[in-house]
Amino acid sequence: MTPLSFDQITLENSFVSELRGDASGLAGARQVPGYHYSHVAPTPVADPHLLAWSDELGDYLGLARPAGRGPAVAALAGNLVTGSMRPFAARYGGHQFGNWAGQLGDGRAIGLGQVAARDGSRWEIQLKGAGPTPYSRRADGRAVLRSSVREFLCSEAMHYLGVPTTRALSLVATGDEVVRDMFYDGNPQAEPGAIVARVAPTFIRFGNFQLLAALGEIDNLRALADYVLRHHYPELGAPSPDTYLRWFAEVARRTAVMVAHWMTVGFVHGVMNTDNMSILGLTIDYGPYGWLEPYDPEWTPNTTDFGSRRYAFGQQPRVALWNLMALAQALGPLGADPQALRAGLEVYVETLNTTQHELFLRKLGLTPLDPAGDRALTEALPAALAGPQLDMTIFFRQLAHLAPTLLAGDPDEATFRPLLDQAAYAQDPEQAQPTYDWLRRYALRLRREAASPEAIREQMLRANPKYVLRNYLAQQAITAAESGDLTPLETLFTVLKTPFDEHPAHEALAAKRPDWARDKPGSATLSCSS
Ligand code: AMP
Ligand code: MG
Repeated sequence: MTPLSFDQITLENSFVSELRGDASGLAGARQVPGYHYSHVAPTPVADPHLLAWSDELGDYLGLARPAGRGPAVAALAGNLVTGSMRPFAARYGGHQFGNWAGQLGDGRAIGLGQVAARDGSRWEIQLKGAGPTPYSRRADGRAVLRSSVREFLCSEAMHYLGVPTTRALSLVATGDEVVRDMFYDGNPQAEPGAIVARVAPTFIRFGNFQLLAALGEIDNLRALADYVLRHHYPELGAPSPDTYLRWFAEVARRTAVMVAHWMTVGFVHGVMNTDNMSILGLTIDYGPYGWLEPYDPEWTPNTTDFGSRRYAFGQQPRVALWNLMALAQALGPLGADPQALRAGLEVYVETLNTTQHELFLRKLGLTPLDPAGDRALTEALPAALAGPQLDMTIFFRQLAHLAPTLLAGDPDEATFRPLLDQAAYAQDPEQAQPTYDWLRRYALRLRREAASPEAIREQMLRANPKYVLRNYLAQQAITAAESGDLTPLETLFTVLKTPFDEHPAHEALAAKRPDWARDKPGSATLSCSS
């Protein structure tokens, strides 16, 4: 099958044709009771041109890489709406920082329809930053280049790390300026605008269900649940109160798997509001997210959350559970027994613990030989990482290289010191004592493995990425892109597609965060302004 230009493909429109749409076409932000979505038109931009394209995702979807300018890029910017596109903005609500916020909805994201991939699966294409919708509230419907680069790179990086996530197909500059008060300090600045074409089976969130339940739109609630079951959980069978229960448990299971991945790669989402929780258990809405540098459960990059740290790294498992409870409440009106919905929450807790444990075992090169002892070992890991403020990525990667040495003999502190020198941000050696103790315990345990040292090392290298999207690297790629140099973005993107491989020409991208980047805005601290 020859790849097609994006403007030549035929999209399907199940969301629009099977759910209730507001076709009033009324301009302006407003409440839209009674509907799942609004028909909208993207607002054209001045000069759309392609900045980045995900070749592998494009190939999978049967799409050709577009030229810098032309009809495909016009379609990816919302300037060209083809005959098979039926653009829409979904209506949803959500809890923001624990408070019910009422109607939110796609305020700047516009869905175009679904494309059929080579394997027959269907993928929704959504343009983020394509202009105002009835859900824009007081905002402009646009996105700036910096936040779009971050979303583009991180969604793809997460995919290649094996973390469940939405994808990004293209990054298009609009040629328009967008005004943002990045630091919320009364200094708005004009910044270049951009649009990311996001890709996922669906972008439906917990909040879509919550809003319908909160307003008593039970027929709409049922229609949405049945739509999701039909298209995204067909294996669960025909909709019924029982099916809803099994579905909720499956959403809980997938959410747990997602969060377990976050906790083992050091990803902090930053805004785990219920409107940012995918009904498919995918990482969604890359805003003020960040990657742990010094291991610290209290860390969040989101300046809006500095006070309460609700969405800090170590809080994520608890917050996802809270969000699932909110979803369970929204599904109550469908006739599912509330007591039985509780079983889904137990599935969450159980899956989170097992998955996190299994992922850590893999990272440590261990096979399940000693369930109780191994649990204790992985549960003691966070404290061992936190003491010397280890960089998780560097620590695990170097541990893989050290494994054959640990297997060969009796390691002591001197064996481990280079590892800590490479990975620790803390200077105080006293904080490292529990880490040395943990490492000794680990080395003893590793010696019970049957595989050869080389096989263990290889397996660990497959489980521990060398490259993650370090906060300051994303910022460097942004700064260069803002001044017209796409090379750092392209290099970073290439490396992040094979994060478990060595890239000798790009050792610098695997280095520990430099000191200057510690508190730098855009690197370590991010606002929601995007
Ligand atoms: P977020 O915190 O990015 O998940 O966004 C929360 C809500 O604000 C969602 O309903 C978004 O669609 C909306 N929103 C965020 N930024 C904009 C914007 N620039 N224009 C319109 N709506 C926005
Ligand atoms: Mg959002």
